[in-house]
Amino acid sequence: MNAIGVDVGGTKIGAGVVTPEGEILNEVRYPTAAGRERLISSIAQAVVESRDEYEVGGVCLSVPGTVLSAENKVIDAPNLHAIEGIPLKDELEERTGLTATVENDANAAAWGEFRFGMGSEVDHLIFLTLGTGVGGGVISHGILLRGAQGAGGELGHVTIQATGPRCACGNHGCLEALASGTAIARRAREVASEKPDSALGRRAVERKVLGEDVTELARGGDAAALEVLEETGTWLGIGLAGFVNVFNPEAIAIGGGVARAGNLILDAARREVRLRATSPGRDLVKIKGATLGAESGVLGAGALARDESGEYVLGS
Ligand SMILES: [Zn+2]
Repeated sequence: MNAIGVDVGGTKIGAGVVTPEGEILNEVRYPTAAGRERLISSIAQAVVESRDEYEVGGVCLSVPGTVLSAENKVIDAPNLHAIEGIPLKDELEERTGLTATVENDANAAAWGEFRFGMGSEVDHLIFLTLGTGVGGGVISHGILLRGAQGAGGELGHVTIQATGPRCACGNHGCLEALASGTAIARRAREVASEKPDSALGRRAVERKVLGEDVTELARGGDAAALEVLEETGTWLGIGLAGFVNVFNPEAIAIGGGVARAGNLILDAARREVRLRATSPGRDLVKIKGATLGAESGVLGAGALARDESGEYVLGS
């Protein structure tokens, strides 16, 4: 039996029929509508359109925010406030006739990577997505860690530097405040003003430097851009070393836009893990780029869809 995975983002909604083999059929995309009623009706429309004539056992929404799993609703979504507080399960079941579940987007992407990406060979996986923010997911013994309320696995908001930059969550020095694309851009602007003769410094005079500029200039050998990525990788590694000690994962998958910097960031992260994590966990863990890219959201949501009896439609 197939399931429908829906990836609800701040700018677009993607929905597709996911097969037990991890193929996406009939994917549809809508812009994310503003306003509560238009948002829920466009999500329902995406589900109905994607379902078409396919046999489907359930639907799961991947949403950008803190999910209360007992109530199947989002309580805090900084990039999509319109979705907060909507009884998503009831609304969607009424409009589509399918059993609906709701999951945090990073947890869903982690599950997608676990089922169909680089995690398919392991039982213990940490997933991090480094983009505008930092999302995380933890799979231990083949089970997605949700915690008591469904709000677990928020690896991006672990404190790495007590007096560090302010984070979007209000805390200081979270992993997100030091290793997201936003953090890279902020640090790059500081380094550019310290080193105006570097390629990074010259780029900053032309326009506002973004995370992808830093990767491009680092690939071209600019020492200032390389320094920013090396520093970012070091902060990332400090975070990962803690996760290695707590969860003893076989693999850590790094996704999101920042992961395109590849070893320019990951080499420094691996070095920190070797220096800081304890044996034997640090010797076992493989730190690699995630393999599914943007499809992990729809795939992971599809794989987390449950049927009427509460079992995963695609199996576990
Ligand atoms: Zn934070």
